[in-house]
Amino acid sequence: MTSTATRTIAEYTIVLAAWIDENSDNLDKFRRPVEGGVRGEVEHARELMALLYEAGWSRWGWPEEIGGRGGSELHRAALYDGLGAAGVEIPEVFVILETVAPVLAHYSPELAAEHLPAYLRGEEVWGQGFSEPEAGSDLASVRTSARVTDDGVLLNGQKIWMTLGPCADYAMVLARTGTPESRHRGLTMLWVDLASDGVTVRPIVAANGREEFAEVFFEDVHVPAEHRVGPQDGGWGVAMFLLQYERGMYAWLRQSILHHRLATVAGRVRPGDTRPSRAVGEAYVLLAALRARCATTVAALAEGRNPGPVVSVDKMLLSSAERATFDAARKAQFEEFVVSDDLESTRLRDEWFYSRAASIFGGAVDVQRDIVAQHVLRLPAGRSS
Ligand SMILES: Cc1cc2nc3c(=O)[nH]c(=O)nc-3n(C[C@H](O)[C@H](O)[C@H](O)COP(=O)(O)OP(=O)(O)OC[C@H]3O[C@@H](n4cnc5c(N)ncnc54)[C@H](O)[C@@H]3O)c2cc1C
Repeated sequence: MTSTATRTIAEYTIVLAAWIDENSDNLDKFRRPVEGGVRGEVEHARELMALLYEAGWSRWGWPEEIGGRGGSELHRAALYDGLGAAGVEIPEVFVILETVAPVLAHYSPELAAEHLPAYLRGEEVWGQGFSEPEAGSDLASVRTSARVTDDGVLLNGQKIWMTLGPCADYAMVLARTGTPESRHRGLTMLWVDLASDGVTVRPIVAANGREEFAEVFFEDVHVPAEHRVGPQDGGWGVAMFLLQYERGMYAWLRQSILHHRLATVAGRVRPGDTRPSRAVGEAYVLLAALRARCATTVAALAEGRNPGPVVSVDKMLLSSAERATFDAARKAQFEEFVVSDDLESTRLRDEWFYSRAASIFGGAVDVQRDIVAQHVLRLPAGRSS
């Protein structure tokens, strides 16, 4: 087997590409869509996770103290790029990994040491429990309460739209430890075992029929003190730390996938068919901008610098690039998109619908525009006419 004992990004990238090449047959099944809906995809993803862990690739980019092999975000970025370029589907579990694991690694290395290797081996699935029915864009109005006890907190309330919630074992939950009026000052981040007494996970069936999300209810759920992630009442800072990864690293991961998807779409455009040709060109320009922007973000994260509010630009570019890529796919594969019901066509439709959601998750783009206007460009606050 090819050695993975490499350190620099250049070495990592070259040896990874060689490994992907050598293992092309084994990886083939991860290039195709699978049956069984979200649960089927998660089971399939577990196999890929185990393979990448075994070969060492997914352990790079995480500190050795928590089960990684060292390196930085650049190693993870190189992994996503390498897999994306080889047409390997990067499953949704990696999205949650890039959202939740950096927080665990930074604020709770002990929890990270316990759970990260299991996640990377495909043995655990996690969720992100931020949104509530009355708290989405306005995250500071979270109402799920965490009443402090002698040995932890008692959790009561409801979360919604938890991606992979129907399959999740643990969740990173933002809860209120302060008064209802305390807004962002009275929030605490918790690591919650979803098998605990008092937790009810109810899958949400999306419009496309997929059980992509879950509502999660908490009724007097005991969360031990050592499962607090970051300081008591300091959950807002932890959430902001998480968002730089959810907006920046995730956008990088997606551009790796989208570049490959667009290349496939381009190969399907019939000569002289101007409508899809133009759509492919437009999507490519947006993807190039996204990649350039995210490269700066990933470099900042790798140096331990917080990219700050400008990471909202990554999120906005991602949203436009997602829509444009799957609009191009719809135009180039119009018949499959409209009438076929084989696995490939079903995936195409699912992806097109999901691309519409990119303007919402991780922070709605309208809100990102406001952040850029106020905190990046420092435009004066206007009055609505
Ligand atoms: C595919 C997907 C996956 C998700 N996964 C998760 C997950 O794993 N965990 C989790 O916690 N949540 C998740 N969410 C929820 C997501 O974070 C919220 O949907 C998002 O924050 C928006 O909140 P909301 O749905 O309550 O909409 P609202 O906040 O009610 O917004 C509704 C509309 O009003 C606009 N709006 C709101 N406030 C303003 C403002 N101040 N200025 C201008 N316009 C504004 C928004 O842009 C939007 O168009 C997911 C959502 C999607 C679509």
